[in-house]
Amino acid sequence: MCDFCEKWKLKINSDKTKVTVFGFRRADTSTLQFVCNGQSLETVHCFRYLGVIMNYNGSFKIAIEELHKQALRAMFALLNKCRKLQLSVDVTLDLFDKLVTPLCVTVKKRIIGYWGRLLESKESKLSKIMYNQLHSLHSSGAYASPWVSQVKQILDDCGLSYIWITQKYNNINWLKKIVEQKLKDQFIQRWQSELTSMTSCDTYIEFKQEFKLEKYLMYENQNSRQAICNFRTNNTRIPKVTGRYKGLERSERMCNICDSHCVGDEYHVLFECKNVNVMYYRKKYLPKYYVYSPSKIKLILLLRSNNSGVIAKTGAFLRNVLPLFK
Ligand SMILES: [Zn+2]
Repeated sequence: MCDFCEKWKLKINSDKTKVTVFGFRRADTSTLQFVCNGQSLETVHCFRYLGVIMNYNGSFKIAIEELHKQALRAMFALLNKCRKLQLSVDVTLDLFDKLVTPLCVTVKKRIIGYWGRLLESKESKLSKIMYNQLHSLHSSGAYASPWVSQVKQILDDCGLSYIWITQKYNNINWLKKIVEQKLKDQFIQRWQSELTSMTSCDTYIEFKQEFKLEKYLMYENQNSRQAICNFRTNNTRIPKVTGRYKGLERSERMCNICDSHCVGDEYHVLFECKNVNVMYYRKKYLPKYYVYSPSKIKLILLLRSNNSGVIAKTGAFLRNVLPLFK
């Protein structure tokens, strides 16, 4: 047993152990020899630990690129299978969360989970020894560890600074659960404030008030589903949207398929447009309650509706009307 292993009572498998010399430049390891239990250890410039590639220069660029590639591969394979099996949108989204999970909340929750398990592990465990060293260097200001800083930042952001200060908590599952909940709440708050600051989302924020899966996404007719989704998210060629790309003021984005001289926005398309075809499809599909004496409130109620019949009719109207705007 080597001195280090003996001191900390570590059992190291020399066959599976490799050495990486960390530094700004790639070290010349031909003159260096590392020995453990009388066996020479192989020196490598990078290695994979818990699925993450660690590079000699401490940069995670290669690891991030690798994870990005893996996530893309997993996502496209998943979408392909979902299309072949004709799975519904809610099932696809659930599978995406479970199989790909590149989401920042998940990553931060895992960081805290790993840190929590580290605190609970035996003092003699190599990772615990390294953490204690890192923590003491970080606390004294001798070395600013990015990972330690990240753990502290996550706890601070979740209002759990006292856990970082005391390095103690009651239950790991409680800690992970509360961190996840607080991070999700913050994500939704950020999402809401970003929406409020975007003028192009002025109608969207009126009807999209909750961060949840919308019922229209489960509607079986894919063309209708796509049309509603495009209409809600400004992914159309109605004048309100195309005028923005041309740099026109909102009041100058007039409807180009009728002569009403009105701004071609969502309200105009649904309730006002005098184009013959739009009027035909409006009469054919849109429920009378919304069409007669329309108002801004009715527009919001229509796009917020969870009624299957209303969703089907809105979808049929939009999939016929939106292609008229070119
Ligand atoms: Zn019009």
